[in-house]
Amino acid sequence: MADKYDVIVIGSGPAGYVAAIRAAQLGKSVACVEKWINKQNKPALGGTCLNVGCIPSKALLESTELYHEAKHNFADLGINTGEVSVDVPKMIARKDKIVSELTGGIEMLFKANKIDWLVGTGKLLAEKNVEVTDHDGGKKTYTAGNVILASGSVPIELGATPLEGDIVVDSSGALDWESIPGSICVIGAGIIGLELGSVWRRLGSDVVLLEALDTFLPMVDQQVAKDAARTFAKQGLDIRLNTRVTGSKVNGNKVTVSYKDKDGDKEMVVDKLIVAVGRRSATEGVIAPEAEIGVDERGLIHVNDQCETSVPGVYAIGDAVRGPMLAHKGSEEGVMVAEIIAGEHGSLNYDAMPNVIYTHPEVAWVGKTEEELKAEGADYQAGTFPFAASGRAKAKGDTGGLVKILRDKKTDRMLGAHIIGPSASELLGQSVLTMEFDGTIEDIAHTIHAHPTLSEAMHEAALSADGRAIHIANRKPR
Ligand code: FAD
Ligand code: NAD
Repeated sequence: MADKYDVIVIGSGPAGYVAAIRAAQLGKSVACVEKWINKQNKPALGGTCLNVGCIPSKALLESTELYHEAKHNFADLGINTGEVSVDVPKMIARKDKIVSELTGGIEMLFKANKIDWLVGTGKLLAEKNVEVTDHDGGKKTYTAGNVILASGSVPIELGATPLEGDIVVDSSGALDWESIPGSICVIGAGIIGLELGSVWRRLGSDVVLLEALDTFLPMVDQQVAKDAARTFAKQGLDIRLNTRVTGSKVNGNKVTVSYKDKDGDKEMVVDKLIVAVGRRSATEGVIAPEAEIGVDERGLIHVNDQCETSVPGVYAIGDAVRGPMLAHKGSEEGVMVAEIIAGEHGSLNYDAMPNVIYTHPEVAWVGKTEEELKAEGADYQAGTFPFAASGRAKAKGDTGGLVKILRDKKTDRMLGAHIIGPSASELLGQSVLTMEFDGTIEDIAHTIHAHPTLSEAMHEAALSADGRAIHIANRKPR
């Protein structure tokens, strides 16, 4: 293996591995340092997203959604199944197989692109030297023309609720239970709490989510968030706001959770506790002081709009830097940085960042919420369309939710799109593209949408912004 590379990437999550592949495509000699040891005790590429994040959680969400459909909704569609049962170990094994296929796929892509995987822990030293410590403690130093720091993030731990065995777990632990807990408490009604809470609720666990804030999903348009809160409550997710967890104590195979709500101090006893209170960037030990790279008090590496640090030729991307902690955000930063290193133009439109919560129904959004526009004093108009009025949603038997678009009243530009409903994650793409192209609501209104599709709801929401929707009674027809 060489000891000098054009580019060394530290971390092979969706930010780092994409940066490595794009740099190699552009003719650079590339190495990627990765220390991850997977569930099977083997080194693995792919980071949080592939090993314990996006992919395994979506595998379990898919299995449990289909189980729930078969058990509760098939009869309404005229399908009699008899007794529907669940095989949790098989579900977990399927999830693990998907993970190992995808992480193995990255290894193959590295080989195909002639990227060297340096197995071990990387540390940036001065002068773009990178020290790699292998899993046996052996050290070797490599030199790079450019370094990309992509060390990602780890779950935030609460001192008052330490992780304990398979009883008090973080998101990774909650992906591996092989039997269905009777009761689960989740600390945090954020994205992880809702996704993993949904997985186990669909399988029959009693799930309580304790959330410190008094607003549910504050980053989501509140019309959509309120719809989501109603729907999740109907599904049996017991979401309690204004409730701060203060401690936990494991007793045998149960855990007592202490919390404080508006009525004072309380306790509950449950089978499992999931700590899902956010993630923090994982930059400790990644940068030696002599490398002189600035990190803020939350561990985020200081970068400019092009993800370059204060040291020329050293970049940082993904969860290790400012912005939302999302896989696609990290990947696109990886592409941008690799292209800049190769002398090409690179930029990213952070205003058109898609966000999705993969519950059922899914919640998906891009751009500004109505609350943000109001606070800015923007001259905007909203258009909405409920899935209850969509022929395709009715045919699917999935009519909850709505599409809401926000437009600039003067320019007609799309300022935001917010969806709760079936396939919201896929429907959102049209709005992201509209914003990326700096498009208008009239562009969507003028586009022919196939019938019958869920995407017609987006079309109708666009039409409804100025009273032209066909399939709802408009208040102010033009
Ligand atoms: P990571 O994926 O965290 O990868 C960083 C890598 O760097 C790790 O492999 C780590 O081992 C390695 N590393 C760190 N330090 C060193 C070192 N010194 N030397 C060598 N290697 C090092 N996002 C979405 O967009 N969609 C989703 O559906 C989604 N679902 C999620 C579900 C869960 C349960 C969780 C936990 C997260 C989810 N996320 C999702 C968030 C997503 O996983 C992260 O935003 C994404 O993985 C960040 O990518 P990254 O490459 O920056 O970091
Ligand atoms: P989050 O920030 O979405 O939610 C954490 C919640 O915990 C917050 O609402 C916070 O108020 C609450 N909280 C904190 N301390 C508390 C306490 N003591 N008691 C009660 N509530 C408390 O974080 P997360 O759900 O852990 O997810 C972490 C990150 O991972 C997110 O930022 C997200 O970007 C990413 N992620 C994305 C997806 C996706 O894109 N579908 C899925 C999972 C995770």
